[in-house]
Amino acid sequence: MRILLVEDEKNLSNAIEFILKKNKYIVDCVYDGENGLDYALSNIYDLIILDIMLPKLDGVEILKNIRKEKISTPVLFLTAKSTLEDKVVGLDAGADDYLSKPFEIEELLARIRAMLRRKGDIIKDDTITFKDIKLNINNYTLYCNDKSIQLPLKEFNIMQIFINNPNNIITKEFLLEKVWGYDTEAEYNNVEVYISFLRKKLARIGSKVEIKTSRGIGYYMEYKV
Ligand code: CA
Repeated sequence: MRILLVEDEKNLSNAIEFILKKNKYIVDCVYDGENGLDYALSNIYDLIILDIMLPKLDGVEILKNIRKEKISTPVLFLTAKSTLEDKVVGLDAGADDYLSKPFEIEELLARIRAMLRRKGDIIKDDTITFKDIKLNINNYTLYCNDKSIQLPLKEFNIMQIFINNPNNIITKEFLLEKVWGYDTEAEYNNVEVYISFLRKKLARIGSKVEIKTSRGIGYYMEYKV
């Protein structure tokens, strides 16, 4: 399970990151609203924990933007405000739950577990599609007609980004940040290696989808007919 944490108070962010990692969640932390929106739009997260008061762009604006893009990732708001009016604004913007600061870490974990369980109930269509390929987001399996192959996590994350952004060129920098994480020491050649794995797997299942290189920029998908 991959969680995005958008919280500008470093101490609080570090504390939440620590406890989430200890509980076996994969966590990406960002510290302002613009990065928060950028990461959330990659649509690779199972849950987003969103502070309301953030530099550059507040949590409510981030949420409105991601819902506008039809991204249904469950969002848990963290807020120092607990007035009824703020809750109504957040719920109208599409938040799924609230936690008022200060909170007990056990309560945060309980809410996360509940939201992830609910997510499993809500999401019936667990595949995303591009041309002749289907990617199952629960078992990480890539299908083409009657052939299939299960992808390791990083290759799955990359494939998911491509299918969710079918008309875009995806930069190596974007892939590094989204798949390897904010503070990664991985380099562009790591990305290149994983792209070559994916190309081989697409060919192996007989797909006409290719991952093409856009020189000096990144990659995009092309369907050969
Ligand atoms: Ca804040």
